[in-house]
Amino acid sequence: MKRILVTGGAGFLGRHLCERLLSDGHDVLCVDNFFTGSKRNIVEFMDNPYFEVNRHDVCFPLYVEVDEIYNLACPASPIHYQHDPVQTTKTSVHGAINMLGLAKRIGAKILQASTSEVYGDPEIHPQVEGYWGNVNPVGVRSCYDEGKRCAETLFFDYFRQHKLGIKVARIFNTYGPYMHPSDGRVVSNFIVQALENKPITIYGKGEQTRSFCYVDDMINGFIKLMDSPDGFTGPVNLGNPGEFTILELAQKAIDMTGSRSELVFKPLPSDDPTRRCPDISVAKEQLDWEPVVKLDEGLKKTIEYFDTLLSGSTGD
Ligand code: NAD
Ligand code: UDP
Repeated sequence: MKRILVTGGAGFLGRHLCERLLSDGHDVLCVDNFFTGSKRNIVEFMDNPYFEVNRHDVCFPLYVEVDEIYNLACPASPIHYQHDPVQTTKTSVHGAINMLGLAKRIGAKILQASTSEVYGDPEIHPQVEGYWGNVNPVGVRSCYDEGKRCAETLFFDYFRQHKLGIKVARIFNTYGPYMHPSDGRVVSNFIVQALENKPITIYGKGEQTRSFCYVDDMINGFIKLMDSPDGFTGPVNLGNPGEFTILELAQKAIDMTGSRSELVFKPLPSDDPTRRCPDISVAKEQLDWEPVVKLDEGLKKTIEYFDTLLSGSTGD
C-alpha cells in the first residue's frame, strides 16, 4: 500500500484517479479547493478509512508525508480557467513550486497533469513531444497554456537540479462520467444540450478538430506513467489519436440521444486551436499504453451518466 496525494482530486479526472487508486489498495489523500471540483464527486469514498480530503489551495505550501504525488489541481475548461486568469497562472506555477518542494522534502515521485495546450495552435500534425508549440503568450488562453508550460519547466529543472523523480503527461481532451454538466467543455455541453433538446452550440464553423480520450483509458495512462522506470520522465502525450471535427461530434451527440436539437453557430473563441491530435508513439513504446475505448462506446457511457444525472437532480 502506497500513500498517494492527488491534488485536484475532487475534479473530473481527480475523482476517477482517486477511485482507481483506492481500488488498487492505496491510501489516498485528496487535496482540493473545490473551485471546479465538488464534494459530490468524492462523497462515495468518504466512508473509506483509506481516503482523506483536505480543503487546500495548492498556491500555498502543504506539509504531508506521502510516497507519490499526482498534481492535477487546475481548472481545465476554458470558461473556468479564464474566469480568474491570474489565479489560473498562480495555480499552475505556485502550485508546481509547492508540490515540487513537497516532493523534494519527502523524496516522493511526482506526476504533472500537463496538457496538449502546450502545443498551442499547432503547425505540426499530429503533435509529437519534440514539437515546441505555437502558443500566444498574451491571449485569453495564455494563463492556462503558459502556466502549464512554466510548470513543465519547473518539473524539468527540479529533475536536473535536484534529481527529483518526475513524470510529465501531456493530456489531450478527455471526457466521461463525472464531468460537471456546466463544465463548458465540448463533450459535456453537447450531450447536455442534446438530452435537453436545446440548441447545440457550435463555436465557429465547427471544422476545428479534437481527439477525445475516454477517462478510463486516461487513468490507465496515468498509472502506467507513474509506475514507469525511474529514467523515464516524459513529457509523454496521453490521448486518443482518433480525430473528429466538432460538427461530427455534434452529429454523434444528436444521433446517439435521438435528440431534436438544432445546431446554432456562435463566434469562435480567441486562439481556439484549429487541429489537435496526439502522436502516441512514445506512450506505446515506453508505457505499452494506448486507448482501447472507441468514441461511440465512451459517448454511450457518458450519455447514460448525464441522462441519469439530469433526470434525477438539478446537477449543482
Ligand atoms: P477539473 O476542473 O474537473 O478539475 C480540477 C480540480 O482542481 C478541481 O477539483 C478544482 O477544484 C481543483 N483546483 C483548481 N485550482 C486549485 C487550487 N488552486 N488548489 C487546489 N485545487 C484546485 O479538471 P480536470 O478535467 O479533472 O483536469 C484535471 C487536470 O488535468 C488539470 O490540471 C488539467 O489542466 C489537466 N488536463 C485535463 C484535460 C481534460 O481533457 N480533462 C486535458 C488536459 C489537461
Ligand atoms: N466548442 C464548441 N461548442 C461548445 C464548447 C466547445 O464548439 O459548446 C468547441 C471549442 O471552440 C473548441 C472545441 O469545441 O474548438 C473543444 O473545446 P473544449 O472547451 O472542450 O476544449 P479545448 O480543446 O478547446 O480546450
